[in-house]
Amino acid sequence: MTKSAMAATSQASGQVEEEPPGAAARSEVDVEPPSSTADSNRNRLFPHIPEEAWNDWRWQFRHRIHTVEELAELVPLTTREQAQIKLVTTKYPLSVTPHYLSLINFNDPDDPIRKQAIPSFQEIALADIGLEDPLAEERDSVVPGLVHRYPDRVLMLLTNLCPMLCRHCTRKREWQHGGWVRTPGEIETMLDYIRRNTGIRDVILSGGDPLTLSTHRLEWVISRLRQIEHVEIIRIGTRCPVVLPQRIDDELCDMLSKYGAIWLNTHFNHPREVTPESALACDRLLRCGVPVNNQSVLLRGVNDTVETQTKLSHELLKIKVRPYYLFQCDEVQGTEHLRTPVETGIEILEGMRGHTSGLAIPTFVIDLPQGGGKIPLQPNYVLAQLGEEWILRNYQNRIFQYRNPRGLTSPTNGSKNGKRASTHLDLSLDKNSVLAPASGARDENRVIVRS
Ligand code: SF4
Repeated sequence: MTKSAMAATSQASGQVEEEPPGAAARSEVDVEPPSSTADSNRNRLFPHIPEEAWNDWRWQFRHRIHTVEELAELVPLTTREQAQIKLVTTKYPLSVTPHYLSLINFNDPDDPIRKQAIPSFQEIALADIGLEDPLAEERDSVVPGLVHRYPDRVLMLLTNLCPMLCRHCTRKREWQHGGWVRTPGEIETMLDYIRRNTGIRDVILSGGDPLTLSTHRLEWVISRLRQIEHVEIIRIGTRCPVVLPQRIDDELCDMLSKYGAIWLNTHFNHPREVTPESALACDRLLRCGVPVNNQSVLLRGVNDTVETQTKLSHELLKIKVRPYYLFQCDEVQGTEHLRTPVETGIEILEGMRGHTSGLAIPTFVIDLPQGGGKIPLQPNYVLAQLGEEWILRNYQNRIFQYRNPRGLTSPTNGSKNGKRASTHLDLSLDKNSVLAPASGARDENRVIVRS
């Protein structure tokens, strides 16, 4: 999708340009001062932009960086880097908001924010690995733009426009189709399908990013969904709180607050993305009654360590955003260099469990190829089950024997041929005993208080 194509589509669809200038940011939250990188980058890259323009999402959206020439004017790039980016963008375009660009540390070639926003030559060098549509969304589209995979929920793809084109995007295939927004007629067809299928109780608005639509157009969709009795909840999947936090303005929040149970899933991947602007955006959503959950994607060199994931969760909890899912990066063409082995995600959860609160630990999920759906993966804490007895380990690798309530264990558990197991497990542990590793890890973690 070229800049001109995106701009033309955007104008043709009457989206962002039709809106009056946005209101200035409210100050409901005490936010930390901007990080030194973001602050100094903004002053250096965009020195004369008035505060009012910077805080206006339409200004941010209109001033996205789309070409290597625009990028090279702002940040240091070698001739080789420029040539490589130019080549990559012939297949996978570039789009970065000024806000997100200001978070990048361009002195660090391995900067985790940069890796998500700036094209890498590996996108095309390894482009034959993976699939265009690994989740088989095209196959599960019941009408254009409506994916119906699970019994009680559907995904409405309203547009393929995004403020930023994330280099790890699952729908990279869409970038080559120019910018599009579903027409009112196409949306009516989707609504008809939802009306006729009374088992659908949950509708997810996605894209692209549905918040690139004007608030007016979004309200048109949401208000019609709300007229369908069996639709209980509406979810919005958007990366705006991260890449275009100015989009969460008073007008949007006032609109959302009128339509009952609306949830918002966003996509923070790194603790440095939790900026004062993002904190303000999430605070506004919470104040208008929209809970915010985070779905991050596990990315090589971005957030693939226990320390980064723990820090990300802690930063999210501080702004009252729940770390919900940690996704294994899908097998998408053009993302191979960012993917991690499955075991990395399991090891990260293993490293978090017990060392921080359960609220901070996301569910690690693989979205299975060919539309198999999401499945959770986690470290195995069950070592064995024999009859009524379970053998379990904790985060310190101490081993515990746990008994089911008497008489309630399925007779087939731990047995052969449907006969109850005759073996009674006896580890000779009394009620207060456990098998502990030789290191005595539990005691090392204890703070001993003496009276
Ligand atoms: S915001 Fe979501 S849909 Fe848009 S490019 Fe990023 S990952 Fe893809």
